[in-house]
Amino acid sequence: MTAVTEPEFAGLKAIVTGGGAGIGAATIRALQARGAVPAALDLDPSGAPEGALQIQVDVTDSAAVTAAVDQAAAELGGIDIVINNAGIGAQGQVDANDDAEWARVLDVNVVSVARVTTAALPHLRRSQAAAVVNTASIASMLGLPERVLYSASKGAVQAMTLAMAADWVAEGIRVNAVVPGTANTPWIGRLLEKADDPEAERAALNARQPHGRLVEPEEVAEAHCYLASPRNRSTTGVLLPVDGGMTNL
Ligand code: NAD
Repeated sequence: MTAVTEPEFAGLKAIVTGGGAGIGAATIRALQARGAVPAALDLDPSGAPEGALQIQVDVTDSAAVTAAVDQAAAELGGIDIVINNAGIGAQGQVDANDDAEWARVLDVNVVSVARVTTAALPHLRRSQAAAVVNTASIASMLGLPERVLYSASKGAVQAMTLAMAADWVAEGIRVNAVVPGTANTPWIGRLLEKADDPEAERAALNARQPHGRLVEPEEVAEAHCYLASPRNRSTTGVLLPVDGGMTNL
């Protein structure tokens, strides 16, 4: 008799912030391929993969986040996995951004992780496979020039990941983070478009990567899935680089 093997994420429900584009959309596709049922929570969820529940929400709006998470739980039938992935960039040295800009970027990149996870916590506590995966960045592991605010925000995400993992390890709620290198997403596309010669800039960006190319969003999605997988119940408090060796320099 042939053994029946269930898909890795069969029956599991996932919410993915920033699931309307780039890394978040790739993660939704990877979760779907493994049998999960995902919802994209995004300012513009219309770009989320087909089949995902699309919920329009700004992750800086507490009341809207609570409503969006509750809607996802009601329509999906619970929440087992939270992928905190929505994020924005910020350029410049320490004097480049005023208080309002610091507050805005930290709100999107840091406070939203607390906000979304808090809203999902009652659902995670009912799950037998609860996992939170945050999207950090190599920017907080290397001294990248002109990235003070962004690096600070992602450093906070890393620290929160470790602290939340410690808080919930006995409850079986795992918390990990992926640490992407420069990834081939609409975000980087928008930055390249601003260059005088976008193709030359892309080639230069590729050449700056140790493995000679940008990280593909699908590769980050694989790491999200590994860390969220019910097969990896002993993996918590991990910061997993997906950076072509950039942090190994
Ligand atoms: P992207 O800009 O291509 O997509 C981000 C998505 O997040 C968009 O769909 C956008 O609408 C959504 N979003 C932004 N602000 C939001 C808000 N306030 N509320 C709800 N949704 C919001 O970005 P990406 O490159 O896929 O980046 C995803 C994550 O990966 C971010 O946290 C980013 O910091 C991180 N990251 C990206 C790179 C890279 O090189 N692309 C490298 C390291 C880390």
